[in-house]
Amino acid sequence: MPSIVDNIKQTQDRIADKLSHLGRSAFDVTVVAVTKMQPVDAVEAALQNGIGHIGENKVQEALRKIPMLSVPYEGFHFIGHLQSNKINNLLSLKPLLIQSIDSLYIARELNRSLGHKNRAQDILIQVNTTAEESKTGVSFANAEEMIWQIAALPCLRIKGLMTIGLMSIDPERTRPYFTQLRELSETIAKQNIPGVELRYLSMGMSDDYLVALEEGSNMLRLGSALFGPRNYGGTK
Ligand SMILES: *Cc1c(COP(=O)(O)O)cnc(C)c1O
Repeated sequence: MPSIVDNIKQTQDRIADKLSHLGRSAFDVTVVAVTKMQPVDAVEAALQNGIGHIGENKVQEALRKIPMLSVPYEGFHFIGHLQSNKINNLLSLKPLLIQSIDSLYIARELNRSLGHKNRAQDILIQVNTTAEESKTGVSFANAEEMIWQIAALPCLRIKGLMTIGLMSIDPERTRPYFTQLRELSETIAKQNIPGVELRYLSMGMSDDYLVALEEGSNMLRLGSALFGPRNYGGTK
């Protein structure tokens, strides 16, 4: 699969160029390869060629693929809408970061399951910055209050914010939402909420990651830029 290798190299070069332009350290950014709908051999090829973090948006798919991986990874990230009946399956995969906590309800359910297992979990809060109905995530208006409430749950550790930009061919249209998310992160960080450490700003996908880096992102979730277009017909 030489094209995956080339794509990774090219994308890493673009990220490095952008960061050096911005005067930011190359170590400042974590790339999460979004492996949804990719076959196991493609995921393994990525892990053998400079990718350490992988992300899936469906628990069932992750449950099927992750145990099959023969190449080690640094972290598995869950990036999709989490349903309460999938929590235990997700936790069995030991996610490094659950990036998509989008309601107080799911946070409480997750906290309860973790409590039974005597575990803690790093999470990000997903903000629906663009206020599109098709997307989950807490609204800007409710984010701060929800973060205070989730911070009080003993088994969850808030490590930052996540958002999905506009599905637009023009990444400039998403820039204002990224700016707003960074500002929200700064505002909340100033409140020194106990147990909350806003270390990650997970924003930027294949079409808008360079803009996201300009707006302060330090975690990119990249699918098609690394693997090529997803085959929604699906063979595997
Ligand atoms: C699919 C997906 C991505 C990656 O999308 P690309 O445009 O292929 O980079 C990133 N984040 C989430 C939450 C996704 O579902």
